[in-house]
Amino acid sequence: MRGAVIHAPGDVRFETLDDPKILEPTDAIIRTALTCVCGSDLWPWRGLEPTGEAHPMGHEYVGFVEEVGSEVTSVRPGQFVVGSFATSDNTCANCRNGFQSNCLHREFMSSCQAEYVRIPHAQGTLVATATVPDEGYWPGLLAVSDVMGTGWWAADAAEVKPGSTAVVVGDGAVGLCGVIAAKERGAERIIAMSRHASRQKLAREFGATDIVTERGEEGVARIKDLTGGIGADSVLECVGTAQAMRQALHSARPGGNVGFVGVPHEVALDGQELFFSHVGLRGGPAPVRRYLPELIDGVLSGRIEPGKVFDLTLPLEQVAEGYRAMDERRAVKALLRP
Ligand SMILES: [Zn+2]
Repeated sequence: MRGAVIHAPGDVRFETLDDPKILEPTDAIIRTALTCVCGSDLWPWRGLEPTGEAHPMGHEYVGFVEEVGSEVTSVRPGQFVVGSFATSDNTCANCRNGFQSNCLHREFMSSCQAEYVRIPHAQGTLVATATVPDEGYWPGLLAVSDVMGTGWWAADAAEVKPGSTAVVVGDGAVGLCGVIAAKERGAERIIAMSRHASRQKLAREFGATDIVTERGEEGVARIKDLTGGIGADSVLECVGTAQAMRQALHSARPGGNVGFVGVPHEVALDGQELFFSHVGLRGGPAPVRRYLPELIDGVLSGRIEPGKVFDLTLPLEQVAEGYRAMDERRAVKALLRP
């Protein structure tokens, strides 16, 4: 089969790789229906994370089950399945507590920009749809496997409640999905922080009521202006930089909550400041598996359309162009078709 391999920053190649095989009785092999490039894939692409030895890339997928190991009974060949970027047995104590992305047997998916993928712990990781969905739903279901699940987690961690005010820091795919999540959870006012016209438009379509274009302390001042001087009930931090985290913490009201879902890079918190702010803070890799059933239903019922975050579609062999387009901000998120 063929798939994407990163050799060095800015150097992703589409290469011939060994076909994945069932290694454990809990594995499944899927034929990729769609995959994509994630904002977090840009960290190594930009040289901000070491790439190390050449290795496959990608952690988002929807596909058709090809083969299952002897202990996998929940899915069968031919079914269309959605999973998560983190595998989970869905039975351990952390899974039962709803934190499947911290499963005691967790593995992070890392080779999904390829024609076939091995899924460890397939029984607990994969959710099959009742029938093979119309192709038009595939991008939305792919979004559910990562960015929509993560946006949902951001809103959950930030405790967005009906009638509340939510701020979304970050207008990438996760931030935009965070707007969808805040709307679904009943936020009355959703303030999206964005300075890109096309992303502002999509944020509004997803339910944003206000747009703030300023950043840093100026952005915080605008949020305070819009929230009676105190800040928002909930803030969804969907970037992962020090500036975004600072902006998020300063935009929440005393007693408010920040959900941080951007993988932190050089983020340091000041204990004194956090102490006196009265702001609650929770983040981490999204427990996507917990949300899969309701989010799959949301997509298939047409209630949410997170597939709209994909604004570039490429054949899988042009995966490197997907990275370039996202790096240069010509695309929010690149969809790849094997
Ligand atoms: Zn587990």
